[in-house]
Amino acid sequence: VSLNEFSLIQKYFSSSGESKGVTLGVGDDCAILDIPEGKQLVATVDTLVEGVHFPVSASPADIAHRSLRVNLSDIAAMGADPHWFTLALTLPKVSESWLCDFSQALLSDALYFGCSLVGGDTTAGPLSITMQVLGTIPIGSGLTRGGCHEGDSIYVTGSLGEGAAALALLDASVSIESEDIRSRLLQRFYRPEPRLKEGACLRNVASAAIDISDGLIADLGHIGKSSGVGANIEFDRLPVAPFLLGMARQACLNDWILSGGDDYELCFTVPRRNKDFIEALIHSGELNAFYIGEMCKELGVRCYDSRGQVMELKKSGYRHF
Ligand code: ADP
Ligand code: MG
Repeated sequence: VSLNEFSLIQKYFSSSGESKGVTLGVGDDCAILDIPEGKQLVATVDTLVEGVHFPVSASPADIAHRSLRVNLSDIAAMGADPHWFTLALTLPKVSESWLCDFSQALLSDALYFGCSLVGGDTTAGPLSITMQVLGTIPIGSGLTRGGCHEGDSIYVTGSLGEGAAALALLDASVSIESEDIRSRLLQRFYRPEPRLKEGACLRNVASAAIDISDGLIADLGHIGKSSGVGANIEFDRLPVAPFLLGMARQACLNDWILSGGDDYELCFTVPRRNKDFIEALIHSGELNAFYIGEMCKELGVRCYDSRGQVMELKKSGYRHF
């Protein structure tokens, strides 16, 4: 990429619209950013590798959206607000049309989320996208995995299982007739909705939070482990879109819902004293979340079926192409 590395950066990655708190952005040795008084900086980074985290067939716009949004999902899980990001791009070759589509999609999505591109690195090699997102939280209000106790209520946002269903569609292990459903699932995979609004409204209310990237059981397990408690959840309470129900055998469906990754919903816990507050937010429609169970003393995660039997859980394994 060395030949026109500088013009490439200049052309595709130098403007990013609104840039609050940026004293110095793309173009110097480092960016200089202003952290507002009373705020802490939160930082996260994720790498997406072609053929591992997205299929070789993915369009540049899809790759851009997914890369930014999976990072924003981590910001949401902390209850933070995103402000800035950096981009380390490894490209097999310089394709102007690829770069044009990628940067347009990236910068418009970034603008939508109020997050501006402030720097990066460009190298040659197998296609890989690394983004680091920086955000802020009011001092002391970050939602960690480690703050919950026995008796706290467990909630999840949105709906579960569609990330895994989308993967099954992409690797052709299920076939879907309905164009509507196909596009909903692809949208879910390539443009997951980071739950930033939800995360922010859980500050000082939730006792722990995580975003669901590895599957509900695994990620709720992380909360339990960090907090030194366990979890009991009820399968029938898990939010699942009706269209998903007919798509696969029950056993497969259960795996999608419980152990499939890539949903990017939030799983969070609420102490007794804040439960009425959360329930009121849910009833008023301000928060799209569902009560699914309770944290308990006994370590590990158990899911109960409609007859009150503990369900056998598949360990969420490595998948992704
Ligand atoms: P250095 O050698 O000092 O690391 P680079 O040549 O890597 O500088 O980058 C020059 C400038 O361009 C830096 O400000 C860097 O942050 C920015 N930059 C490089 N690649 C990208 C990219 N893919 N997206 C955004 N900014 C980039
Ligand atoms: Mg560099």
